[in-house]
Amino acid sequence: MINSNISDNLFQTNEKIKKIANKTHRDPAAVRLIAVSKYIEVPKIIDAYNAGQRHFGENRVQELQSKVKDLPNDIQWHLIGHLQSNKVRPAVELSTLIHSVDSVSLLKKIDSVAKEQGKVQKILFQANISGERTKFGNSVNTVEEQLEMAMELDAIACKGLMTMAPQNASEDEIRLLFRKLRSFRDEMEEKHQILLPELSMGMSSDYEIAIEEGATFVRVGTAIFGAR
Ligand SMILES: *Cc1c(COP(=O)(O)O)cnc(C)c1O
Repeated sequence: MINSNISDNLFQTNEKIKKIANKTHRDPAAVRLIAVSKYIEVPKIIDAYNAGQRHFGENRVQELQSKVKDLPNDIQWHLIGHLQSNKVRPAVELSTLIHSVDSVSLLKKIDSVAKEQGKVQKILFQANISGERTKFGNSVNTVEEQLEMAMELDAIACKGLMTMAPQNASEDEIRLLFRKLRSFRDEMEEKHQILLPELSMGMSSDYEIAIEEGATFVRVGTAIFGAR
């Protein structure tokens, strides 16, 4: 399924996104592909860039910092991994969107650093919908508290929610999780009278389900760059 040709892989992934969006009566342009480039070396990232890809995702700030200087500056970087508070400064400097906000203290730190940098930082809250014990992401109750806090912070623009399905989940379980994230989003929009347009869900193995369930960002690594 996966060959070594990054531009072919990208083309095929984009075709699949279009096909599924059309099938589910969604605008294909409303689903943006993030090429997850963690552990991938710069020349391969440039191959993807040359094939037209502009949104890339990294899960470690340090890796992002070391790559960014060797890559075109019109790349939009998405921070998709856990963010430590001592890395907030470079994260805010470099990231278009931080997908992995998971605590009030992190939120406040991002707000103060963004203020210093004269920026409004776009963020998503990472929700753990499965309730399964995982390292990162919060229950919906906690996410709601964090959302309420975010509404008070001037340099934070909360754009929506992110989730990851547990590795061993079945297709039906994954679909249900994605559906729950979407309905939680709908509920929060209604209850707090806010807009949360973005749903970041779906990776190489489950992005098709995610699009059917309303994803606006899919985070795809292996299907583009091959196995890490
Ligand atoms: C690595 C990673 C991905 C991409 O995973 P693939 O299975 O390679 O597509 C997506 N999201 C997050 C948060 C990741 O860490």
